[in-house]
Amino acid sequence: MASQTRAYFDCNATTPTLPVAAQAALEAMNTLFGNPSSAHLVGMQAKHILESTRKLAAQAVGAKPEQIVFTSGATEAIQTAIFSVLTSAKQLLQQEPKRRKILFGATEHKAVPQALSHWVKALSLPIEIIELPVSSKGLIELDALRALLPETLMLCTMAVNNETGVIQNLAGIEKLLLETSSPLLWLVDCVQALGKQALALRSSRVDYAAFSGHKLYAPKGIGFLYASERAQITPLIVGGGQERGLRSGTENLPGVAALGAVLKTLLEGGKPFASHEKLFQSRDRIVAELRRAFPKVEFNTPFENSVPTTINFSVPGFSSLELMDLFDSAGLRLSAGSACSAASPEPSYVLAAMDLPEWRTVSALRLSFGPATSDAEIDRGCRVIRESALALQHSCLLGEGGIEVSEDLRDGILQLRSGPSNTWILADRETRSCVVIDPVDAIAERLEHYIRCQNLRVVAILDTHSHADHVSVRPVLQKLLEDQMVSHAADPLGWPDSAPNSLIETLTLDGGAKVPALRISGDRMIARLHTPGHTDDSHAFLYGVVRDGVMRAADVLFAFSGDTILTGGLGRTNFAMSDTQALFSSLRKLGKVLGSTTLLCPAHDYQNSFATRLSVETEENGILNLALAPANDEQARLNLDPFVRKKKEIDTALENIERSFHGIVCGVSSATTGDEDSQIVLSQARLKEVLKSEPLIIDVREPQEHELSKNWKALGFNSPPRNVPLSRFVNFMRELMVDAPAGRDVILFCRSGSRSLQAARSLRRLGISRAYTLEGGVSLLGS
Ligand code: PLP
Repeated sequence: MASQTRAYFDCNATTPTLPVAAQAALEAMNTLFGNPSSAHLVGMQAKHILESTRKLAAQAVGAKPEQIVFTSGATEAIQTAIFSVLTSAKQLLQQEPKRRKILFGATEHKAVPQALSHWVKALSLPIEIIELPVSSKGLIELDALRALLPETLMLCTMAVNNETGVIQNLAGIEKLLLETSSPLLWLVDCVQALGKQALALRSSRVDYAAFSGHKLYAPKGIGFLYASERAQITPLIVGGGQERGLRSGTENLPGVAALGAVLKTLLEGGKPFASHEKLFQSRDRIVAELRRAFPKVEFNTPFENSVPTTINFSVPGFSSLELMDLFDSAGLRLSAGSACSAASPEPSYVLAAMDLPEWRTVSALRLSFGPATSDAEIDRGCRVIRESALALQHSCLLGEGGIEVSEDLRDGILQLRSGPSNTWILADRETRSCVVIDPVDAIAERLEHYIRCQNLRVVAILDTHSHADHVSVRPVLQKLLEDQMVSHAADPLGWPDSAPNSLIETLTLDGGAKVPALRISGDRMIARLHTPGHTDDSHAFLYGVVRDGVMRAADVLFAFSGDTILTGGLGRTNFAMSDTQALFSSLRKLGKVLGSTTLLCPAHDYQNSFATRLSVETEENGILNLALAPANDEQARLNLDPFVRKKKEIDTALENIERSFHGIVCGVSSATTGDEDSQIVLSQARLKEVLKSEPLIIDVREPQEHELSKNWKALGFNSPPRNVPLSRFVNFMRELMVDAPAGRDVILFCRSGSRSLQAARSLRRLGISRAYTLEGGVSLLGS
């Protein structure tokens, strides 16, 4: 993307290359391409570049040129420092056997603890690696450090943290080391400090310091290690003897030349590098914009002690991935936690070490700009933040200072996920009413906001059963939405009171069962069927069309089956209030009342399958077949014992799976599509083929992301494609099952291709075999 339109705020991950640096690298490839080890003129020119960059690097960090060794980056520099200390450790341990600990700060970049454990193991050293705790402000606890000093061989800390921007208390640590005359060797990771903090290494107590070019506008693949006079270096790489034998291999001269150009610009103090004051002003502007856009935002960066270029924040009710997807759609690039762990959004270990509340550690976003980020780019970033918040308001997901009621209600089913738990909202446009099923705590506020924003009357808030893995948030929600509730009296699972004149009617299901039901609008009702087994209070809610007082199996549109039937499994029956035989009967009961196109919407979705069909489950799940295959109840009775036995085996195995889910698993076995991903994922070349058949092209991103994508033409679309967000995907699944023109291809896409792959897999699982996803999603479209 051209720099005039760029809103790149992920400079702690990497920076664009400065034009003067790119130019210097190009020259070092085109004209000054010599090998610095060659004795001829071209070689001497290359050597000059190498040595003048070394001088600049030394000047930038307050060192002598001979104290600088060029490496491929900071990871190698860290590695070299650790390897050097450890290779001399055997001798050191003989002199001082009790000094056998290596300490590292709990918020260090992973390169440090990983290198420590790797080399201690590889060299079979009797060394103990200890993580030093940090305070809530991210500073190393000096008392803990002091207590361990007499036994410590090496200390690894960082100057500035890459996730939070926290400036480590190096002065305090240095004072402690000097006071106690500790002989330990001290490595400081200075990657995020270069260009943002004054450094005077030679006059400090620091022994080793690691630097990386690509965090400061040089290309990737160049960095350097500083080593003090008393710190020896054991080469990691030997060979031709380059870098005074400390790091062999022909030097990365284009990288060195580019780094030299950046450092020269930095040391001259001119454009494009902004002054420190200017960087603080930019931070203030972004922070103010975030506060305006998300009044409940919490900042995880302690601003009083951090570099101005890093802003780590969390917004209540939004996961980091959700917000990242949103910002990315609008063109603002930032990262969830740290870039290295962005693929698997786990809690940030840096924020967890600072003891921040769990929700902040899982929903953290890191916005980082650099000393060369232009004012115009800061403006664009602020504008995107504003627009993104507005898009969330349009989707009824955010609203501050009074809620604007949205006229635009799409009826049908909304699925809100929190981990593997589903909350379902069944909304009806005609009556502007809704029913909420199995609400979970994490989304209560968002749910309340959504319902108010849509101005929906709440007919009922229901639980399919009392959940073993979480407390229902229903009573809280009922209170929050008191003025929107149609009826206030309800039983312990939220079913409205059946006193005279209440909302409850009675209808008949296929097979003759008479059940209570709530009218949603016209001929649409939601019926309640008692399905004990998983728990004795388990129920299924059947939503469908009622004719002459009967809801026939073929007219049941959706069945909210709680934990009785899940995708790829059945609800567990080894809880105190479970009964496997009762589950068998309940499954048979469901078998009679559900149609072939009824979509089952369970309380949990461990497989990211959205919804399923009874016939698909029966085909895949042998145990379900035991209950459902026999045509009459007498024959079925013969299957009861094998069913109970098999169920016991499965439930025992589930206890093992449970450990990997960090909580209670309510019942699951496995679910597969049977199709290889290579069949589902369309490459650019295959896309061209499939496009000839005029497929249905669907953007499965959330409406707020879809709304922010304005450049459809550039992505190759003549008009915006249809948007079916995954939160409303189950409606589309039914639409395809019932009405899809036979044989039409369906191509789903999202930002990166991973969400749409899940969606395409689940369509195929339901039998829609021509569902595809686009390789790389929007990120590769139009490229
Ligand atoms: N240390 C810190 C604090 C970093 O931010 C990074 C990069 O993410 C590294 C070390 C690793 O640097 P490099 O990519 O040069 O190996």
